Amino acid sequence: MALIVQKYGGTSVGNPERIKNVAARVASYRAKGDQVVVVVSAMSGVTDNLIKLAKEIMPLPSEREMDMLLATGEQTTIALTAIALHSIGLQATSLTGAQAGIVTDGVHTKAKIQNITPKQVHQHLDAGNVVIVAGFQGQTQEGQITTLGRGGSDLTAIALAAALKADLCQIYTDVDGVYTADPRIVKTARKLDEISYDEMLELASLGAKVMQSRSVEFAKKFGVIFEVRSSLNDNPGTIVKEETTSMEDVVIRGVSLDKNQAKVTLVGVPDKPGSASVIFKALADATINVDMIVQNISHGSGTPATDLSFTVDKPELLKARKVIDGLKNEVGYREVVADENICKLSIVGVGMRSHSGVAAKMFETLAKEQVNILMISTSEIKISVVAELGKGEQAMRAVHQAFLG
Ligand code: ASP
Ligand code: MG
Repeated sequence: MALIVQKYGGTSVGNPERIKNVAARVASYRAKGDQVVVVVSAMSGVTDNLIKLAKEIMPLPSEREMDMLLATGEQTTIALTAIALHSIGLQATSLTGAQAGIVTDGVHTKAKIQNITPKQVHQHLDAGNVVIVAGFQGQTQEGQITTLGRGGSDLTAIALAAALKADLCQIYTDVDGVYTADPRIVKTARKLDEISYDEMLELASLGAKVMQSRSVEFAKKFGVIFEVRSSLNDNPGTIVKEETTSMEDVVIRGVSLDKNQAKVTLVGVPDKPGSASVIFKALADATINVDMIVQNISHGSGTPATDLSFTVDKPELLKARKVIDGLKNEVGYREVVADENICKLSIVGVGMRSHSGVAAKMFETLAKEQVNILMISTSEIKISVVAELGKGEQAMRAVHQAFLG
């Protein structure tokens, strides 16, 4: 007998039929004698809709009231799921985040879990119930309802699995698992049997969104092994866990393409202490997230000057330009060039640490495809290049072919 935490995302509980399917899947585990805790999201579209309603009344509603409002989405689903389980003869009880003992700090709309005391969960499990817990929500010490940030039901599931010392944590979604690349772009992409937390985090932050990054970080911190799998079939998914030595045998785990980046270049920045600090402090103050940064070596005679390039998310380009324009006198650069017509292609794999020639192979592949590299950045387990947007998909397919077949 195992204790299993299963999380079902919005599409997996998107209508009554799908909720009945969830109940049937839970029943199959109960029939094997397993204890099951189910964590559910709001039905797909519900959270967005609630936000829209509030904003029709007032553009910047109180965050406390937003939590009160958004928590109803998940509360609907837990009750419907319990009813679906009852309808096929199973004992089941729904619990809000607060009832499940999830205590958070008081930062409304993006609260952090402080501790979990799942007393009621244990009691109901011991009495033979399936326990259904509302994802994405908790309660402060003082009894205020909070939510954990968009996509936060993943976090509820991982944190509950840790608190309950569950034998298994399954994240059910509408894809079969984590792939070597986006299968819509790369026909030969395949589902991974396993991936390390760090690789998963890199791929998620690179735009291959399967799960909320914070949840993967939490799982890493507490050593929660979990499986990402589909609620639409019975295929095994992808196991996410701490890196093992055999994982290093594979050089590259996956390839990702981020088309949502834009590049800004400051030409002729005086090469003296403080220039970069002024520029990036101003961008940070405007809460603009800077990703890659590349500075050329100085050139010119007299006061040496350099060119400084960085990338930001496309929707933030205008804001970034405004900030940079405002620094013209203070920094004393010659001109700014912004380029929206770019993409970022990355390869990720813990095997890079123990294999040489990975970057060379990537660049050679891009050269053969006549793809010009505009920027390069690397970490221990990742190599990213910025290239022309129009060549992104072709480059991705070529790089996938070269490393993953
Ligand atoms: N319902 C919340 C959202 O849409 C939480 C979740 O789905 O995980 O962000
Ligand atoms: Mg979701």
